[in-house]
Amino acid sequence: MKILMATSEAVPFAKTGGLGDVCGALPLELARLGHQPTLILPAFRQVFDSGLPIESTGLSFEVPIGTKLVHGSLLRCTLPAGNVPVYFVENREYFDRPDLYLQDGRDFPDNCERFVFFTRGVLEAIRLLDLQPDLVHANDWQTALLPAYLKLEYRGVPGYENIGSLLTIHNLAYQGVFWHWDMLLTGLDWKYFNWQQMEFFGNLNLLKAGLVFADRLNTVSPRYAEEIQASPLGCGLEGVLQQRREVLTGIINGVDYLQWNPSCDAHLAVKYNVDTYQQGKRAGKAALQAEMGLPQSPDVPLVAFIGRLTEQKGIDLMGAVMKEWLANRDAQWVILGTGDPVYHELFTMLAERNPQKAALRLEFSNGLAHKIEAGADIFLMPSRYEPCGLNQLYSLKYGTVPLVRATGGLVDTVINATDATLANGTATGFSFADYSGLALSETLDRACQMYVAKKNLWGQLIRTGMKQDWSWAHSACEYVRLYQQTVRQARGSLAGQSA
Ligand code: ADP
Repeated sequence: MKILMATSEAVPFAKTGGLGDVCGALPLELARLGHQPTLILPAFRQVFDSGLPIESTGLSFEVPIGTKLVHGSLLRCTLPAGNVPVYFVENREYFDRPDLYLQDGRDFPDNCERFVFFTRGVLEAIRLLDLQPDLVHANDWQTALLPAYLKLEYRGVPGYENIGSLLTIHNLAYQGVFWHWDMLLTGLDWKYFNWQQMEFFGNLNLLKAGLVFADRLNTVSPRYAEEIQASPLGCGLEGVLQQRREVLTGIINGVDYLQWNPSCDAHLAVKYNVDTYQQGKRAGKAALQAEMGLPQSPDVPLVAFIGRLTEQKGIDLMGAVMKEWLANRDAQWVILGTGDPVYHELFTMLAERNPQKAALRLEFSNGLAHKIEAGADIFLMPSRYEPCGLNQLYSLKYGTVPLVRATGGLVDTVINATDATLANGTATGFSFADYSGLALSETLDRACQMYVAKKNLWGQLIRTGMKQDWSWAHSACEYVRLYQQTVRQARGSLAGQSA
């Protein structure tokens, strides 16, 4: 099958979060399964900074954006870990900027225009590169207009008429909402600006357009696919999602075990596997404590967090619990993340007042993220919501016991340690349901007690987690099935129309 995957992020070219990990890894696995994936993304400055050889194709185009005709060109490369072609839609004015979506914490004011241009560029690339895809796989709001253009503008256009469309929702909270006049930029008829299609409380909503027009929809875990059909996680789109529930499914993201595997992790001085984890984790913990300036205490539980410091990640709960624990309990804390300035201040204050117990890095550091996964004992993810989550999957592989709130993909991937799950050998971590500091603190207490006093059970949790396989191999097969359904659906609805 020929799959054109359109995305604004893909490792190693451009990444701000899990979307980049998924779009960098899934195509490699699809190629291994014998399919023909092609990636296409904007030629952001990050792409050129990746150090990879980006070449010109010599192909260029002009597309209408509102009343203007805007020039773009196509560049190319391949995914370094496999023979997957990657194309980039270039326009320096739109994409040669320090960040992907924002500056000084605020979205670029022309984000709608930038991604309308990118989407139109993808449609041009299909023709110019003669890609002949069976389907287009769009991802999140940045590419959500693709299904709409295919259905509304390209219906019946030779070369486009059989192309199916799948839209993956990586995080429903980000919808690409713009003021209504941006509808003009899309070039689509105002008649689609209604509450059942592209309008959302008086604004234009690009994600909603994709939800309405794609042949099939999926999100990144089965549980999140359920949760978004109701308030509050439906974020105002629960009605549309309920209407389209027949075509909405969930597939858990996989992990790229070439990148995230303690037995071959280039960031670790001492590598380890499920048989040697005791030495490996001891060394990893000592190295992490040294790097972060914490006392070298092998037996004090080391609790870690990596991620965006935003409300989604449950940072408010973590801040409250950490404050209390730093005052009263014997545990070390390591935090790596960037985000809301309020939390930067809070964690800076906590770390400065408790240098023996808490260490903080307000930055994006892939190398340190690997060292934290290896050196920590407990990985915290008290998320308010979590479409899939990747860090809990990395933690399982690194023998770092995840402690999560039971939401979204965290429910589907972490088995809470109870008497029953410990007895039947399925437990891999700890989870709590109530979004409250009390529930988090009690669960952390439960975990620390097991860590300190029940070493056998702790070892069992580690081994069960490390033996699990969350590689892309399984999830990619599920995507292939979904692609087949998408193509069938697209061709079926086409046949229905012409009948
Ligand atoms: P989300 O996509 O919601 O941000 P995920 O858990 O799905 O969360 O994926 C986050 C990815 O980004 C993981 O690979 C994680 O290690 C990485 N990450 C997030 N923040 C940082 C940071 N400050 N430094 C290094 N890696 C980070």
